[in-house]
Amino acid sequence: MPLPEDLVEGYRAFRRGRLRREQARYRELADHGQAPDTMVIGCCDSRVSPEVIFDARPGELFVMRNIANLVPVYQPDENAHGVSAALEYAVNVLHVKHIVVLGHAQCGGIRAFVDKIEPLSPGDFIGKWMAMFIKPGEVVEQRSHEPLQDFIERIEKAGVFRSLENLQTFPFVRSRVESGELQLHGAYFGVAEGSLFVLDRATKEFKSARELATT
Ligand SMILES: [Zn+2]
Repeated sequence: MPLPEDLVEGYRAFRRGRLRREQARYRELADHGQAPDTMVIGCCDSRVSPEVIFDARPGELFVMRNIANLVPVYQPDENAHGVSAALEYAVNVLHVKHIVVLGHAQCGGIRAFVDKIEPLSPGDFIGKWMAMFIKPGEVVEQRSHEPLQDFIERIEKAGVFRSLENLQTFPFVRSRVESGELQLHGAYFGVAEGSLFVLDRATKEFKSARELATT
């Protein structure tokens, strides 16, 4: 089966435009390997592409995307762990200097969690995946008088906090953070306006990246 026509067209446009401009860079990256400074952990959501948001060129971002941009806790057992494998490579091989957890508005994974949806398949993969968002015994509920939209946004942002917290359960992450070789960042993307908010970890507030850029 051929690829969908829009993908074929897109590839043609890539060859005519970006590849032509960046051919030398692609060759260099092929010969010398990648050396990105930053890993981004983002959501699978098609509206929230880290390479687009950060206007990144090939080789600049090492990107891991999953449902609701979640990082599990460090769990060295006999199971396969996709996020942990990507982290291991980014930190221990590529020696990235920054890890950015990128949350976003209108996140379907968070919405599924908030709405406590029924399993979508016998595996209930989304349900099990989102379950790691909460700690044992923790209760996540809408506050009285809290509008649903505010509740959802609070939980979307809490997902970024939880992922940052879980990142530090990985010994190889924690040791590099402590030595100053690695910095962890949180960010939140507003889909409608294309706005970016960056987590100020001291105040635990997300601040507009436009404000940060002008100060
Ligand atoms: Zn999402």
